[in-house]
Amino acid sequence: MGKKWVYLFREGDATMRDLLGGKGAGVAEMTRTGVPVPPGFTITTEACNTYYEIGGKFPEGLWEQALEALKDIEAQTGKKFGDPANPLLVAVRSGAKFSMPGMMDTVLNLGLNASTREGLAQLTANPRFAADAYRRFIQLFGKIVLGVEGERFEHVLDEAKGHGQRQDTDLSAEELLQIAETFKQIIKSEAGVDFPEDPQEQLREAIAAVFRSWNGRRARDYRRINKISDSLGTGVNVQAMVFGNMGDDSATGVAFTRNPATGSSEIFGEYLVNAQGEDVVAGVRTPQPISRLEATMPEVYKQFHDIAKQLESHYQDVQDVEFTIERGRLWMLQTRAGKRTAAAAVKIAVDLVSEGVIDKATAVQRVDPHALDQLLHPMIDPEARKDAQALTTGLPASPGAASGKAVFDPDEAEQLAATGEQVILVRVETAPEDFHGMVAAQAILTARGGMTSHAAVVARGMGKPCVAGAGDLRINYAEQLVVVNGTTIRKGDWVTLDGSTGEVFAGQMATVQPELSTDFNELMSWSDEFRTMGVRANADVPHDAEMARSFGAEGIGLCRTEHMFFEGNRIDAVREMIIADTPEERRAALAKIEPLQQGDFEGLFRVMHGLPVTIRTLDPPLHEFLPHDDHEIELLAKKLDADFKKVKSKIDSMHESNPMLGFRGCRLGIIYPEITEMQARAIFKAAVKVKQEGIDVQPEVMIPLVGHVTELKPQEEIVRQVAKEVFAEAGVEVPYMLGTMIELPRAALTADEIAEVAEFFSFGTNDLTQTALGLSRDDSGRFLPLYVERKIMADDPFQTLDQRGVGQLVRIGTERGRNTRANLKVGICGEHGGDPASVIFCHEVGLNYVSCSPFRVPIARLAAAQAALGDSKRDK
Ligand code: ADP
Ligand code: MG
Ligand code: MG
Repeated sequence: MGKKWVYLFREGDATMRDLLGGKGAGVAEMTRTGVPVPPGFTITTEACNTYYEIGGKFPEGLWEQALEALKDIEAQTGKKFGDPANPLLVAVRSGAKFSMPGMMDTVLNLGLNASTREGLAQLTANPRFAADAYRRFIQLFGKIVLGVEGERFEHVLDEAKGHGQRQDTDLSAEELLQIAETFKQIIKSEAGVDFPEDPQEQLREAIAAVFRSWNGRRARDYRRINKISDSLGTGVNVQAMVFGNMGDDSATGVAFTRNPATGSSEIFGEYLVNAQGEDVVAGVRTPQPISRLEATMPEVYKQFHDIAKQLESHYQDVQDVEFTIERGRLWMLQTRAGKRTAAAAVKIAVDLVSEGVIDKATAVQRVDPHALDQLLHPMIDPEARKDAQALTTGLPASPGAASGKAVFDPDEAEQLAATGEQVILVRVETAPEDFHGMVAAQAILTARGGMTSHAAVVARGMGKPCVAGAGDLRINYAEQLVVVNGTTIRKGDWVTLDGSTGEVFAGQMATVQPELSTDFNELMSWSDEFRTMGVRANADVPHDAEMARSFGAEGIGLCRTEHMFFEGNRIDAVREMIIADTPEERRAALAKIEPLQQGDFEGLFRVMHGLPVTIRTLDPPLHEFLPHDDHEIELLAKKLDADFKKVKSKIDSMHESNPMLGFRGCRLGIIYPEITEMQARAIFKAAVKVKQEGIDVQPEVMIPLVGHVTELKPQEEIVRQVAKEVFAEAGVEVPYMLGTMIELPRAALTADEIAEVAEFFSFGTNDLTQTALGLSRDDSGRFLPLYVERKIMADDPFQTLDQRGVGQLVRIGTERGRNTRANLKVGICGEHGGDPASVIFCHEVGLNYVSCSPFRVPIARLAAAQAALGDSKRDK
């Protein structure tokens, strides 16, 4: 017996997503649990992969198995494929393991031709319905299978409707048949083939088209952005049609078992009477809220409601379902975990725990740490909003606020965004082929379509604000402008969207960060129960430290002292220190900086109130603090009462061809020990002072860019000496630690030696990535994005840690360091400290903490909890 390529719905279940795809596994599971699903079968993802492997041919036995399974559908429906007397029509539906909304294509009403269409008309005594189904089939088949530009068909349809004078439901059977004939001619002239009359040929071609759509551009783009493997393949579902277009007792719709924007516990969805397939999503007519169904078809609604709730508790998660009502009879066509905003994800996870459906650990694992970013997304500044008048209000399709320049074309949005412009993509409606423009835009605005339109679903998935279905917009693509209630917005004009309210404003408006909900805090506190790794923040000033604490940071993992150098007129003293010729001059300048630094550190210690604060000594190349144009140099010379030429030549002499690898880090403190001395004194005096105020302090002094233990040693001596002096003077001792950044490969490799001096390590993975990869972050923009696109590198190594390479250095450094000093405290303070995948890696390596920017602290807390929960799963 050959390989099994085809599974009847009743042969599969929810666990078979790899083989059957998400949609196939979903309909199989529903079938198994007794939910009404039209019968059908699924062709496996393996068949799709084999199709590609053998050069675009059906694998051996596939077609025979499909025909056999078709007989099963015939038996269950009592209809016959291709039989004019009682024709079976099928849907051919793609479905990969991960739902790719709108990315793959579905053909409906397959099996129709001139004679089955007539048979259907007689059988149903509804010629208009048969003609409508026929028209739709030829259109979908032409577009999806034969690759004819969809616009060609839509144009004809639009003409027939008198450009919006009439709706699609107003077209008569005769008109629809006329349109169908025109469609056939379009196919003939555009695709160069006759529309196939033979249902079997239709089916074969449609299956192949679904296979091919796996490798279409928009599917590939979607996978790249969502990091879905190209090797999964898609399943193909062939299913008996049910008809939502048989009259006013028929309908089609989509719904979520809870509100996917807010998470509130109410069925949320839309439906269209006398409609089929993608009419709802495409926004052909404006759909009605599902609550209307309760009023118009109470019995069907009740059944629907019960099934929705049943599915939700069966899957223990919110479901996104598709359904069709055929002459008052309900059919479920799809169920899958509902995509939701981060706010909804948090609320739903917490609600499901209090409803007793899931436990806390599951709740913590339900929320994607990346998605939390959305919650930290800005909203329109209430002050700015006060006297602002919205131009119009559409549907609040995806929350958050954003401003940008209006752009009407996705390609243009992509180009402008690449030059650093903020753009808002404005479209009548969006389609999968606009995806790249949506990725590039800050936010999306559409004139047509509901809460489940393509624009809304995609924007929510990406965490971007979206206002959909703003019906007042009169968009003119030709002239690149939109008129809204008398106001004209042209390409390049600023607009502001509030995706939480649906409001559209002209101009650029200030935005602010929102308050976090109690559900959010609840979920975070559960995360803290599970995680074993600490989370700190990188913060340089008290304000950031305060924010970090409010987000739950347990310390400061990196304070960059030099960030305070630019404040007020401090930079003058800093420059004086840099320009100084002798240690005495340098000391004199440093003496001016010291009290200011001490004040900064006091501020940080007070805010952190006993939590550890890691302060890094001076790190950047000194010329970063110097002026470079003559005018400014002259001003500086005047301030310093020095000769312009002398200052200028001093500045010129400090030029470096590769500053990243130049005179910076601990090298500064080694050549100019008085700098380290001053910083250490400022730190310890601040510590003493704050301790005397009755506040606990835990300073950690960190020396940057050490490659040899012999570099760390002299810096250590200075710091310890100063500490001794300050404590003796004050008569107060403050326990402190001295450690180093590990940000050079040599440091990681000789960590055993370095740990003889260092009491803690903090992996500076930004520099470690630069030095391990020999890749300058500042110069990689020209090629790195291309590397990622061509999969030469899986990710941007500056965003997510290169685990194979740089990660090995982290692992080696940690192990060797702890071999020398068993209780060595190890953390990470690069950008990666807030990247979920990197956080999980840090947990696995056994780091004590990660440190990231304050806004990413909640993301790191959640990711660290998921990493810890992953351990307990692995143990089982
Ligand atoms: P997508 O993945 O884009 O949602 P689907 O395969 O779910 O594609 O098909 C889109 C729509 O087509 C469904 O929401 C449903 O309205 C309609 N459809 C799919 N299968 C059937 C069917 N067997 N009978 C009637 N309508 C169907
Ligand atoms: Mg689709
Ligand atoms: Mg669907």
